[in-house]
Amino acid sequence: MAEKRHVIDARRCKSCELCVEKCPKGVLELGSAINGQGYNYVVQAHPEKCVLCDICGIVCPDMAIGVVVE
Ligand code: SF4
Ligand code: SF4
Repeated sequence: MAEKRHVIDARRCKSCELCVEKCPKGVLELGSAINGQGYNYVVQAHPEKCVLCDICGIVCPDMAIGVVVE
């Protein structure tokens, strides 16, 4: 049976915080670690609150975050 899973591709994130602002559950924050492009990338600070709505995936201009179905 297909399962939804939240994923973040740290390499693509550019710290714009659109996903942080639009997540309805306050799941996301910019982390302290820096990716290869020199940006602090987003992390799931509160993964237990994620409802897998994929709003973060819709608003991200860099395809760095979202929900996948496996
Ligand atoms: S899938 Fe929805 S609840 Fe989960 S991090 Fe993205 S916007 Fe927030
Ligand atoms: S919207 Fe995309 S690029 Fe912007 S902070 Fe979120 S994951 Fe990173």
